[in-house]
Amino acid sequence: MPGIFVYADTVEACASLISAAYGSARGVCALTFDEKRADELGGYGADKVFLLKGDNPMQESYAKAIAALLAKEGPEVFLVGSSTTGREIAAKVAMYLDCGLVGDISSLAFEGGKTITTRYIYGGAAIQTEVLDGYAVVTVPKGKFEARKYEGKTSDVITLKVESDNRVTLKETIPLEKDSKDLGAANIVVCIGMGFDKKEDMKIAEDLGRVLGATIGCTRGIVEERHWLPAGSYIGISGTTVKPSMYISLGVSGQIQHVVGIRDSKIIVAVNSNANAPIFMAADYGIVGDMYEIIPLLTEAIRDVKV
Ligand SMILES: Cc1cc2nc3c(=O)[nH]c(=O)nc-3n(C[C@H](O)[C@H](O)[C@H](O)COP(=O)(O)OP(=O)(O)OC[C@H]3O[C@@H](n4cnc5c(N)ncnc54)[C@H](O)[C@@H]3O)c2cc1C
Repeated sequence: MPGIFVYADTVEACASLISAAYGSARGVCALTFDEKRADELGGYGADKVFLLKGDNPMQESYAKAIAALLAKEGPEVFLVGSSTTGREIAAKVAMYLDCGLVGDISSLAFEGGKTITTRYIYGGAAIQTEVLDGYAVVTVPKGKFEARKYEGKTSDVITLKVESDNRVTLKETIPLEKDSKDLGAANIVVCIGMGFDKKEDMKIAEDLGRVLGATIGCTRGIVEERHWLPAGSYIGISGTTVKPSMYISLGVSGQIQHVVGIRDSKIIVAVNSNANAPIFMAADYGIVGDMYEIIPLLTEAIRDVKV
């Protein structure tokens, strides 16, 4: 069945890809390794689900088998959720099929038999549009498209036995220390920047976050240089993309690599002592001043409104 094939390593991410492909009016086929997910994906709009069965726990080791399936089925585009595993599968499948790969798109459209993608280039300073005339692999960042449920819709599930490439084997799994909250799905985000002098000072941001019911995020240096917050906490081009109803930055300069990750926020609020900080170009509301004075005042004011 020609159409669009999708693969992602969670049901939510796969549902988001199906939703992106659904508008194309072409058939949507989902690939999964999880028996329980196979039926669920029909409810999210997949016309057909290929349940891939093998003994290797590393899904990336099935890239050759996936490429062989795609070569046989002849889809127009293969959309892949941009996780660590997904990116590896996408790159290998493109290599096996000798086709193009567009990485981490920001928009996707299907027009006149062609697939049109846009993505940020030069660290987010420009947007590049690509027109894919023919088969291609496209990776899609998490949460880019909203998943939709289609009540009563079911899909055919085809079970396939697949062989893995066993040159790399899994020896051990060590859980990554990370915040349990899903920053990408947060409704309100309070973002901590390098303007904070000491780790203990983050308490005032956390207090503000608490009265707002917000999830705490940060800029890259807070994770990678200062190690104040766990991996997965930073927002931006190389971190998480957020799209909350409100994003509040505290002591964040607003360099392009960070701003790329907050552009989809509905309201952007910035507190910075430097009136020329680039974050004010992206902000809907800005407060110029010392955040050590402003944050406790904001917290109190919001607490007063809430009681
Ligand atoms: C390839 C590449 C990828 C990158 N990816 C990312 C990414 O994904 N995410 C990311 O965040 N960064 C990323 N960066 C880094 C990015 O370029 C910036 O360096 C970083 O975002 C700056 O973090 P910051 O705004 O917290 O710190 P700074 O730029 O140091 O800004 C601190 C701000 O705090 C303000 N300030 C200081 N004291 C106070 C006070 N008392 N009250 C109020 N304001 C105060 C200052 O005026 C300043 O504007 C990347 C860089 C590269 C090269």
